[in-house]
Amino acid sequence: MSRNSESIDENMICSEFQEKVSEVLIRHKSILDIVTKLDEYNARINRAVMKSVTSCGCISIEASKQKYNKETLEELRESLENHVNGELCEVCSEKIEAEMGAYAFYLASLCNTLGISLTDVIIKELNNLKTLGVYSLK
Ligand SMILES: [Zn+2]
Repeated sequence: MSRNSESIDENMICSEFQEKVSEVLIRHKSILDIVTKLDEYNARINRAVMKSVTSCGCISIEASKQKYNKETLEELRESLENHVNGELCEVCSEKIEAEMGAYAFYLASLCNTLGISLTDVIIKELNNLKTLGVYSLK
């Protein structure tokens, strides 16, 4: 499969996901429910990540002040730490993925409510990243 056909498939998956979300969202149709559900699942993602550290132990976090003493942004990107040691086990990975999936559901719901294409959002962000590269400063 060529790189271009992969991109097209990914775009179609995003559109299909947004359409399916619009078909099944009933109980939390109000924008008030959607934005508070987004907050809830953001917290649940963070909680699942922290439980991977404190309950499971498959990953640990060892954080300290970042050192911004490099000449270029490329050097800086390579030198900065993510502060995570280890790798997620299968159980923790599945739990975090499930929470992220629910988050994506409500993000797509918010897009539907406001008439925004999730695919367009991702494409615009991707184009910004391609244009600005490391200068996007994210
Ligand atoms: Zn784990």
